[in-house]
Amino acid sequence: MKIQAVRGARDILPDEIPAWHRIERAALSLFPRYGYREIRTPVFEETDLFARGIGAETDIVAKEMYTFADKDGGSLTLRPEATAGIVRAVIEHNLMNADPALKVWAVGPMFRRERPQKGRYRQFYQVDVEAFGFTSPTIDAETIELALGYLEACGVLQHELVLNSVGDRHCRPAYVERLRESLRKLAPSLCGDCRRRAETNPLRVLDCKVPEDQAAIDTLPRIADHLCADCSSHFAEVRRQLDLLGIPYRLDHRLVRGLDYYVRTTFEVTSDRLGAQSSVLGGGRYDGLVRDLGGPDVAGIGFAVGMERLALLAPPGETETRADVFLLPVGKGAFDRALVLQRELRRAGARAMLDPEDRSFKARMKLADRLGARVVAILGDDEMARGVWTVRDMARSEQEDVPEERILEHLKEKANG
Ligand code: ATP
Ligand code: MG
Repeated sequence: MKIQAVRGARDILPDEIPAWHRIERAALSLFPRYGYREIRTPVFEETDLFARGIGAETDIVAKEMYTFADKDGGSLTLRPEATAGIVRAVIEHNLMNADPALKVWAVGPMFRRERPQKGRYRQFYQVDVEAFGFTSPTIDAETIELALGYLEACGVLQHELVLNSVGDRHCRPAYVERLRESLRKLAPSLCGDCRRRAETNPLRVLDCKVPEDQAAIDTLPRIADHLCADCSSHFAEVRRQLDLLGIPYRLDHRLVRGLDYYVRTTFEVTSDRLGAQSSVLGGGRYDGLVRDLGGPDVAGIGFAVGMERLALLAPPGETETRADVFLLPVGKGAFDRALVLQRELRRAGARAMLDPEDRSFKARMKLADRLGARVVAILGDDEMARGVWTVRDMARSEQEDVPEERILEHLKEKANG
């Protein structure tokens, strides 16, 4: 029986890798300019971390986690998102002590047991950015600017920034109560998920995508009308700075995001080129999270980009040629000489290749072609006798004799040019 990849898990094949390298390089080059350093945390954590960090009533924790019993009785979970693990590491290693304004970024796979479809997988990759210890709206605007700058660096220019403020622990509870009250009348006419959320987590109702529910949900009270003075002025300053930086956005009072820990600023970037899974990036402020997970009471803000969706949007990376130089010896002595030259070329930085199998001249030329070799260097009996290599420029279909003692330098130059 043929074994296949697990449903929702996806191979990223060599042809796709140039596009992935491109978005990884963009992160490596851009994030340090904003003061970020990379961090790598494990792909599995104690289940409690996510239950406490993300919120028991969220879809992720309620339905989507890959949780398993460890042999010693503990419960482990494959990380569904990066923030909780990073916060755990920040607390565990006291990173805030050494750096009260801590900026870290990460890249890696996340795991959620969702219904697989185009742009939605059960193992998917995220680039993740988190800043700790900043309370001012300036960092909200900077984080959003960085998020858009990153998309731009990946070659993604067409998108929409959606923005909201979800209040904080001073104003949101009262708003959620109002929402709950309004939902008492409305909920019976809504979908099953909404009826349940109306009781357990009313904010999540605003997330509902069921078409029949939309008109009713639009009549619910809006958080924007219930922000406290501090949240309100914070949000106004974020928007003022975005205007100052020339960054357009659309306000959406229903953008509450899928994780419970967000306060104040939430944002998302969508693209209509992605179809139904239109969100490429999401983020927000999470000021209480570090404290809730047992650390100091410091602010936090960040975002996560979905790399599969980013790779779909980004222009394809150039396909890489497999060989700059293809060596084509004929006969045993020539083969030995080519083996040594191949090693020298590779050590000098060239992509050098020869055919290790015993094949005909014609078959080897075909292989050189398939590898996209720009130059083929031939060493046959005649060349051996004359102390030269025949070097053929494949693009120009020209060839020349190159003396044995100059062949390494010559091919190095060809490979670099
Ligand atoms: P969605 O609304 O598409 O479910 P989300 O709000 O659950 O997204 P976040 O948790 O904010 O997503 O994660 C940030 C980004 O990660 C998303 O914008 C998306 O690009 C990507 N992402 C999330 N879930 C998946 C998935 N199952 N497969 C592929 N990419 C995903
Ligand atoms: Mg989701």
